[in-house]
Amino acid sequence: MIRENLQNIYKELPPDVKLVAVSKFHPVEAMLEAVDAGQLRFGENRPQEFQKKVLSFREQHPEVAGRLEWHFIGHLQTNKLKMVLPYADLVQSIDSLHLLQAVDAWGKTAQKTVNVLLELHIGAEQTKQGFVEEEALEILFNASKYRNIRFRGLMGMASHTDNEDDIRADFARISAFFGYCRDLFPELDSFSELSIGMSDDWRLALDYGATMVRIGTAIFGPREY
Ligand SMILES: *Cc1c(COP(=O)(O)O)cnc(C)c1O
Repeated sequence: MIRENLQNIYKELPPDVKLVAVSKFHPVEAMLEAVDAGQLRFGENRPQEFQKKVLSFREQHPEVAGRLEWHFIGHLQTNKLKMVLPYADLVQSIDSLHLLQAVDAWGKTAQKTVNVLLELHIGAEQTKQGFVEEEALEILFNASKYRNIRFRGLMGMASHTDNEDDIRADFARISAFFGYCRDLFPELDSFSELSIGMSDDWRLALDYGATMVRIGTAIFGPREY
């Protein structure tokens, strides 16, 4: 099933759009099936599970571990940085100034540059994490202050709704803002990723310039919480 699901998605996905397979709540065995089908980029949203899976691949599947790309996509508390930052190729979910500063400080100590996306609050839900546009702009104006951060782009989650117009409006807004930032900050030459689209709305996200889609359920099936 996992193989077929991936193949069906790749049939429709433009070749320049990256697929992040969101494996949260699914076991390493399911991830191995995806690896067998050629999928090497994975996303996780809980620090402990993220670290456990990374280490499990390193210890038990060293032949594939070196080829994997790990994205962290969940809320990250500053007391959990050590579980995530040593292993993450991209942290998609920088959602507060406090977190950004802590990640930068970690990078300074570890002598590493951390690749990040700024998470924008675009959906209707009040509970959603993320910056409003003004806050993101303020950070990008001061990008050079964060010496151990590489700003790679934006991430967003559309409103959780069946109303396609509402979802399109969310994507249109983040897409326009992404274009605005790219024009305003040409010196940020790695600021090139727009991570929008999940299982139910990734096809719509393609219409708005997604460079990365994050798909879980449509690959691995429903999650058991
Ligand atoms: C869980 C999750 C996804 C994937 O959701 P699906 O609907 O299962 O595709 C994508 N992005 C984030 C931030 C998530 O937490």
